[in-house]
Amino acid sequence: MLTLDAAYRRLLARAHPTEPESVPLAEALGRVLADPKVTAAIDVPGFDNSAMDGYAVRAADTPGGLKLAGEITAGASALRPVEPGTAVRIMTGAPIPPGADAVVPVEIATEADTVVEVGAAVPGDHVRLAAHDTRAGDEICLPEALTPPMIAVLASIGIGEVRVRRRPRVAILSTGDELVDVGQALASFQIHDANGVALAAAVREVGGEPVLLPRARDDASEIERVLTRGARDADLIVTSGGVSVGRHDHVRSVLETRGSLDFWRIAVQPGKPLAVGAIGGTTVIGLPGNPVSALVVFELFVRPVVRAMSGLTGDGRLHLRATPTTRIAKDPQRRAFLRVTVWHEDGQMHARPAGGQASSQLRPLAEANALLAVPEGADAAEPGRSYEAIVLGPLDLAHWR
Ligand code: AMP
Ligand code: MG
Repeated sequence: MLTLDAAYRRLLARAHPTEPESVPLAEALGRVLADPKVTAAIDVPGFDNSAMDGYAVRAADTPGGLKLAGEITAGASALRPVEPGTAVRIMTGAPIPPGADAVVPVEIATEADTVVEVGAAVPGDHVRLAAHDTRAGDEICLPEALTPPMIAVLASIGIGEVRVRRRPRVAILSTGDELVDVGQALASFQIHDANGVALAAAVREVGGEPVLLPRARDDASEIERVLTRGARDADLIVTSGGVSVGRHDHVRSVLETRGSLDFWRIAVQPGKPLAVGAIGGTTVIGLPGNPVSALVVFELFVRPVVRAMSGLTGDGRLHLRATPTTRIAKDPQRRAFLRVTVWHEDGQMHARPAGGQASSQLRPLAEANALLAVPEGADAAEPGRSYEAIVLGPLDLAHWR
């Protein structure tokens, strides 16, 4: 059995970034810039402008009564200079006219007919200077998946199209004679194929493009056929089921005989029977069949691989330390990833089981907001000790407590 860290390194060594493509900025949410460094071509803002609705003045003329000499709106084109003894009504974002060096907010001014009585101002009051946010030539570094604020920054410097990494195409194959499509009636002893849809969702969540392959029965030649076809236009193949030691577990042997098997079995709970190899030059990650194991192993291994293919590093998750409120038993041979609810109280992060920890108990994973990592060697997570928690969801889960 490989340790988690050794398996992680070997898997990451197989992940290469996809080639860049251009997309409109409006469609770039979650995409990763092929080159994270962007050089601004323009100043932002491009001109001195008002930070308030008020009056553009010469600060030396204030406080006092000034002659009202017109109005400047945001987007105004022509500007007349502000002469001594005058004020010009000005809106937020409107350009500061020549002559003026301050803005007096409406809140400290009173307008009557053609005269405005303004409070005191010093030069620079409520004036946003040109380039105070970004200066032409500035290098802006955006190394993470694009967020709305990053998109706003790119828009502000006039970039309407971005070069981003193509979304990695991840083919998904569910294997198992017992499986039936979601939405179809179950005959005796059948179960719904939860992994197909769940893994597709997990791929989409991490920025990949899922491609669902036709499900394969527990039959070596059928698995081989689907894998070989899937390998043609996928960057990565993720299978579920059929990687254990049962007589009808064929995924690993297909890799061994028709492609290559890099490693098999990792010291992780849940998820021991992970098989990694390649077919037709495409990496195949064979996940265990239990949906809990499949999704936890996806989280630990597939997620960072898809991120690496997208040009990102790490798992993009918040990692913190939390202390269990009760003892949670585990297998001492393996590193456990317990399904827990973590919350903040009295200046500390606490964890409690989100439900049963059997790998066949799926609902606790759905209700958990974190995986608590308990090292090899320990036979339980102990109250009073803290462990690493990988945060999967919001910390404010009061409605589930
Ligand atoms: P296996 O890894 O094939 O031995 O499967 C382990 C367990 O996971 C068995 O109880 C399977 O019925 C179940 N299982 C396998 N594939 C799926 C799937 N796609 N959806 C839901 N459960 C599955
Ligand atoms: Mg099976």
